[in-house]
This record gives sequence, structure tokens and C-alpha cells, in this order.
Amino acid sequence: MADAYGSPTHETVRLDSVRKIYTRGDNSVAALAGVSVSFQRGTFTAVMGPSGSGKSTLLHCAAGLDRPTSGQVFLEGTDLSKLSEKNLTLLRRDRIGFIFQAFNLMPALTVRQNVVLPLQLAGRKPKKAFVDEVIERVGLTQREHHRPSELSGGQQQRVAIARALVTQPTVVFADEPTGALDTKTAREVLLLLRESVHRAGQTIVMVTHDPVAASYADRVVFLADGQIATELHRPTAAAVAEQLTHLSDAVAAQPVAMTAGSV
Ligand code: ADP
Repeated sequence: MADAYGSPTHETVRLDSVRKIYTRGDNSVAALAGVSVSFQRGTFTAVMGPSGSGKSTLLHCAAGLDRPTSGQVFLEGTDLSKLSEKNLTLLRRDRIGFIFQAFNLMPALTVRQNVVLPLQLAGRKPKKAFVDEVIERVGLTQREHHRPSELSGGQQQRVAIARALVTQPTVVFADEPTGALDTKTAREVLLLLRESVHRAGQTIVMVTHDPVAASYADRVVFLADGQIATELHRPTAAAVAEQLTHLSDAVAAQPVAMTAGSV
């Protein structure tokens, strides 16, 4: 199968000249100023950049949570701009997984009930063996009848990961997934994410500001002023930190009115 441009579908997600302009009063901000990037199936990509560089906007546009002002987003060849709100909601539900910094679990539900919730919301009957396997993969088999308040932060994030994986989504978007965790727990969560990519072929796109977290990815895409500045493959934390320092210095050196972050 190929999309309208004839690209093979190993490109799970592709952004083509995506611009997102926010207007407040007389001021316009180009949160994304023409971003073209693709995320290949079975890869783990980190998106980094100085504060205000457009990371969240990129994630929201790529995940169909927000619509670009111009340009297109393709999910395995489907042009999201052509979908109605209803079909976009269905596509997000069926084909995209989300992991957030704040876990966003349902406090009254057990681990297992939280994990199967997306399937139930989609009207899909959870297959016991597969749910068992996903819970086992995140190491929570012994805790499946506990509620989130009875778990550590790392365990809660592992529930959120299982919940994101249980629908077998085309792509998982993670927004600062280790932002609320201590170093050791963050490492466990990152290893789990990397394992789901390298063992199970999951595609993951993760926004982070942490060079160590980014070093678990296969590739780091750097944004500055709403544009892709550069990328690193097989990144080390030191190389990521150095690149980030260059970008932050470059942004700081600009007149305020020129930065994407100015409003
Ligand atoms: P990052 O995630 O890298 O910090 P964002 O994507 O949040 O960057 O923001 C990029 C730019 O777009 C910033 O200048 C921000 O102030 C602006 N922006 C983001 N969301 C909105 C919004 N809803 N309304 C107005 N401006 C916004």
C-alpha cells in the first residue's frame, strides 16, 4: 500500500510542510513553521528543543489532537486533514496510543480495569490472554487488582504504558513520560518503551526535555523556532545535551520579537 505521494507505508506517520499559526490579538506565532518529518514503523524517536520551540504542537498535530493551519499529516497513508471530527476521534481511539507525564489513570479502577478501558470504550472485547500478556510485559501481574493509589509512580506509569499498548496502536505518542519519575524509575520506564519498540515492533514518538531520556531513542529530532533544526541517530546523552545547548544559545541570541515563543 502507498499513500497519495506513493510513499511506502513503513512511514507510520508523516508530516508534510506542517504550519501551525496561533493568533492572539494582533500577534501571530508560528508554533510550527513548515515541518516535514516522518516516523518509521518500529522506531523510537525523541522530539527535543528549547521551551517554546513547538514540541507539544508537533505532537498534538501528529496525533490528530490539533489541526495544522496548513500542510498535511499522514497516518499510514491516511491524510488526517481529510477526516471529519468524528472519524478523527475514531482514528485516535483505534490507532493511536497516548502516554502522559501525569499518568491519567482512573483512580476508582484496578490496574486491569484501567488497562482494558480503551478496548471497552472502543466496543472491543478484551482477549484475556493478550491482556495478561501486556500486564506481564509491564511487570504488574502481581498488582493487577490494585488501584492506582496503591502503586508507586513508576508502577502507575507502567499501567499507562500497558493501557497505551493494549489496543495494539499504529503509533504511541508519549509526552514527557518520565517527567514525574525519579532517575531509577525513569530508566525502567524508558527500557520498557525501548523494549516494546525493539521486541514488539511498536512505533513510539516521545517529547522530552531530558537528554538521558532521549538517549534511549533510536533517533532525536531537534526543533528550534518551530522548525526542524537537526537530528541525531543512535544518540548519546552527552551528544543530545550538547546539541540542545547550541540550540538554546541560538534562540537566546535572537531578538525577542524573532523567537517562535514571543507573543
Ligand atoms: P514546546 O512544547 O516546545 O514548549 P509549544 O508547542 O508548546 O512549544 O509552543 C510553541 C509556541 O506556540 C510557543 O511560542 C507557544 O507560546 C505558542 N503556543 C502554543 N500553544 C498556543 C496556544 N494555544 N495559543 C497561543 N500560542 C500558543
